[in-house]
Amino acid sequence: MLVGVPKEIKNNEYRVGLTPPSVRELMARGHQVIIQQGAGHEIGIDDAHYTAAGATIADSAHEVFSRADMIVKVKEPQPAECAMLREGQILYTYLHLAPDPEQTAALVKSGAICIAYETITGPGGGLPLLAPMSEVAGRMAIQAGAAHLEKSRGGMGLLLGGVPGVAAGHVVIIGAGVVGANALQMAVGTGARVTVLDKNVDRLRQLDLVFGNRISTLYSNAHALEEAVVSADLVIGGVLVPGAAAPKLVTRDMVSRMKKGAVVVDVAIDQGGCFETSHPTTHADPTFLVDGVVHYCVANMPGAVARTSTFALNNATIGHALALANKGWRRALADDVHLRHGLNVCQGKVTFEAVAQALGYDY
Ligand code: NAD
Repeated sequence: MLVGVPKEIKNNEYRVGLTPPSVRELMARGHQVIIQQGAGHEIGIDDAHYTAAGATIADSAHEVFSRADMIVKVKEPQPAECAMLREGQILYTYLHLAPDPEQTAALVKSGAICIAYETITGPGGGLPLLAPMSEVAGRMAIQAGAAHLEKSRGGMGLLLGGVPGVAAGHVVIIGAGVVGANALQMAVGTGARVTVLDKNVDRLRQLDLVFGNRISTLYSNAHALEEAVVSADLVIGGVLVPGAAAPKLVTRDMVSRMKKGAVVVDVAIDQGGCFETSHPTTHADPTFLVDGVVHYCVANMPGAVARTSTFALNNATIGHALALANKGWRRALADDVHLRHGLNVCQGKVTFEAVAQALGYDY
């Protein structure tokens, strides 16, 4: 199969669909790969790295789309890209179709086989092609929070780990899932005092077993949340209720009673956020103040570390890319129920129930 990778064209998107090691994996199984010139240039992956792995460099996105049997990307196709998809071509990328009627209509019209990373399930449950981005965002949350506690960025001027003779900062993490556990690991590493809250006591048990008395775990209810949040220097919001908007766990009143110059990082902002005071921001202008509390609410945090995110994403996507290339889409989907859950649009039909329901398509 000829696998094609265009350069991402969405604003500020520097990730790339395949890394040179992934190209090598595909080549080793007898496939060919065509990559648009400069696709990885911004994150330190030159065309020469791709040709060394066996790929051919294409001059334009048009060449990639017109020649490849399967397109591997990162972000949902933009209108110009949808227009280049053709009947029977496989599209393997993040799609997020439910809130996007225009893209859905364009994919239906294309006749392509569109497989969304975000709905592929894993044998152990969960969404394994979303998890790497939550790992990145969770780890970044502490980095971003620590930076914004600095005076020049609007914070109170606090070093998270303290120094000998000066108390460390208090980090409160709401949600002990993938984001929360990764944030916790980084926060412990800084030497901060760490409290983590979740409704799922099994998740808290697991973290307690690993981190012991280096962290405090609390069952998440309004009382515990309020006490933790008002005493915190940095609060990370990492809750998720699958299929629903994030619950507004931290009220405007709680924020008004937080320390001036404290920082909140609302990672759950892509689902609406878990602070009543949050609204989405961008990497260009990541923060705003409410009652003297710095709010960092960037909806696509992994985009800032596009190189790490690209390699982390490829680790999760390459297995299914190989299956699709080796077996063809019909066989690969028939053989693997988890990959089948990724099929959102197929040859002119919406094939994912939640998307069909949200946008009024027959299912
Ligand atoms: P996850 O399912 O692994 O974890 C969510 C956790 O929230 C679970 O442990 C759950 O029990 C807990 N939770 C639910 N209700 C709660 C409550 N009332 N109090 C405390 N905990 C509660 O999800 P995840 O992968 O960690 O993702 C968390 C959020 O981060 C999601 O909304 C995800 O979309 C978002 N995210 C954002 C970015 C970004 O760039 N902003 C990047 C990646 C992920």
